Amino acid sequence: MKIFNTLTRQKEEFVPLEEGKVKMYVCGPTVYNLIHIGNARPMIIFDTVRRYLEYKGYEVNYVSNFTDVDDKIIKKAIEEGVSAEEISQRYIEECKKDMAGMNVKPATTHPQATQEIDGMISMIQTLVDKGYAYAVADGTVYFRVKKFKEYGKLSHKNLDDLQSGFRALQVSGEDQKEDPLDFVLWKPKKEGEPYWTSPWCDGRPGWHIECSVMSKKYLGDEIDIHAGGEDLIFPHHENEIAQSECCNDKIFARYWMHNAFLNIDNRKMSKSLGNFRTVREISEQYDLQVLRFFMLNAHYRSPLNFSADLMESSKNALERITEAAGRLKDRKEKASAVELTEAEKKLLAEAEGYVKKFEEAMEDDFNTADALAAVFELVKFANTNVTEESSAAFAEGILEILVKLCDVLGLVAVKKEEILDKEIEDLIAERQEARKAKNFARADEIRDELLAKGIILKDTREGVKWKRA
Ligand SMILES: [Zn+2]
Repeated sequence: MKIFNTLTRQKEEFVPLEEGKVKMYVCGPTVYNLIHIGNARPMIIFDTVRRYLEYKGYEVNYVSNFTDVDDKIIKKAIEEGVSAEEISQRYIEECKKDMAGMNVKPATTHPQATQEIDGMISMIQTLVDKGYAYAVADGTVYFRVKKFKEYGKLSHKNLDDLQSGFRALQVSGEDQKEDPLDFVLWKPKKEGEPYWTSPWCDGRPGWHIECSVMSKKYLGDEIDIHAGGEDLIFPHHENEIAQSECCNDKIFARYWMHNAFLNIDNRKMSKSLGNFRTVREISEQYDLQVLRFFMLNAHYRSPLNFSADLMESSKNALERITEAAGRLKDRKEKASAVELTEAEKKLLAEAEGYVKKFEEAMEDDFNTADALAAVFELVKFANTNVTEESSAAFAEGILEILVKLCDVLGLVAVKKEEILDKEIEDLIAERQEARKAKNFARADEIRDELLAKGIILKDTREGVKWKRA
């Protein structure tokens, strides 16, 4: 499997630190508003990377944070007259709803910056002790960039160029810095802001230190893949590398993956242009599966343009997949022949060829556009070869392949049958009756039937409880 590594600017063979396991960190959103479709791109892309790694049999520890202390959150809290925590908690919940709609799996851990302050203070202290950081009179702590000789290795910038660029930008309030390149690790509180006590001053962490600390805590000093949008390469990821490698004396991440940006109608998404689109707005018009399809139908390292036309064609294309899956399901249920014929066995083996094509595309730096092309070839194959004469086993075999490939991409080919609360309660009541009548076979049958629909029963002292899986 090859991954394009921003660090080396080339595709490299993926070799995990530990066999069979992948440690992956993806920078998450700052939670002060509903997420927009620019935030959605890395969520969908790296969820797909994770799904493919899992499909390949890796155990993936996937960590993605919520930045819940930030100027924008504080500003919004002041505007609404509520606490910063209320704002961040509200938008974490909303973000999770959008993620579920896009079929993005919850991370193994979703740490929140405000819950990890102790770790940040401890890492900053280590950096101070090692001479990589220093506090100035007002209690601000800065990272001493020039002391880390490899600074700039991810963004491929050299220190001299950075220096001249920064001199022009130097802000008068930052005079206390030893060097214009130095960045903030800890800053003093301002009136009305959330703050924590530290050895340097009452204040709060800088943004970059948050990810270094959360990655270290939940994944360890060395990780396999660190990912995010390409706008994070500099300075955010460059600074994360500086902090983590100077603190831990280890290579922070082996592979750095970045998705390209998303434009709207060929223009950059910006507040001033008023062309911001939230995922929630899209969901009012489309199933979010369509948005997912749209994102995957381009290579993640290519800029992507969002337009109404492209969403319409994504919707139609996705329907071709779900309609084919629906037909296969129907054929499977209605077929009179059960067993595979010899001819069908051959065709089924032929269909496996599309799996190979799909995998080849994904192995080549997650080329989801080509992987989707393989899915469409399979759809065409199914539409041609699965007919009214086909056996149930054949229709089922092709359907299984289609569902499996779609699942890797996080696309739902066959919607689970919805079961209503009332139906569940009725079946539970029937099961209770069956048990009373000592008809345990029927009781078990009902339990299995519910389980197949994703309903888990639990017998407790207070009676039967159930939940959706
Ligand atoms: Zn980050």
